[in-house]
Amino acid sequence: MAPKLAAGNWKMNGTKAALAELDTIAAGIGADGAPEVAICPPFTLVAAAAERAKGGLKVGGQDCHAEAKGAHTGDVSAPMLKDAGAAFVILGHSERRQDHGETDAVVAAKTRAAWDAGLRVILCCGETLEEREAERTLDVVGGQLADSIPDGADAGSLVVAYEPIWAIGTGKVAEPPQIAEVHDAIRSALCERFGDDIGTAIPLLYGGSVKAANAAEIFATSNVDGALVGGASLQADDFLPIVEALG
Ligand code: 13P
Repeated sequence: MAPKLAAGNWKMNGTKAALAELDTIAAGIGADGAPEVAICPPFTLVAAAAERAKGGLKVGGQDCHAEAKGAHTGDVSAPMLKDAGAAFVILGHSERRQDHGETDAVVAAKTRAAWDAGLRVILCCGETLEEREAERTLDVVGGQLADSIPDGADAGSLVVAYEPIWAIGTGKVAEPPQIAEVHDAIRSALCERFGDDIGTAIPLLYGGSVKAANAAEIFATSNVDGALVGGASLQADDFLPIVEALG
């Protein structure tokens, strides 16, 4: 069984004032790390968030460069995130793939860099509406994972997040059978590639319009070990009930 994880992706939201929400989230979760809870704020807040995170709360970044340092204006490296106190980094989010043209090869290089720095990677995959309607979902997701996850993954370094692009920020949630079909396929692919011990222990998160009202149903779905939450992670009042539903 994979450990449970509720991760919040704040995307490009939050100034210092938002750190108060983090305090409330930290105070509202158990200190035993079950389920694990992480918040990934914008780069500007990572160090402050990591300093304030108490109890079981962990902090992550939303991207990192594939190089450890150098002439890459505006970029942030995996060792920098680690130095700022991050435990996680989200990589391959569809917004990075779309807005910044990140390919699977780029995501794989970033993943290697994150592992070298000792960060745990939340690796995102997911299909567009057109791909789903063309019944290509499993091919697309399978291809993304085959090409974005480098060799050498283990349960301590990798989390996979399935985020159908048509469900992100739209209020449209994938139906449990749709989620189960993809999560079961991801689990099988991970077991086939990395062996059953590792493949069954890698947490699989669902992401896309997760909120308190739908969390319990999603968490009861086959091979769902948690959620990657966007909009509903910005306020403690919205996020804590999701953590509670995960148990
Ligand atoms: P929403 O929860 O706002 O749909 O965002 C999901 C997401 O992209 C998390 O990474």
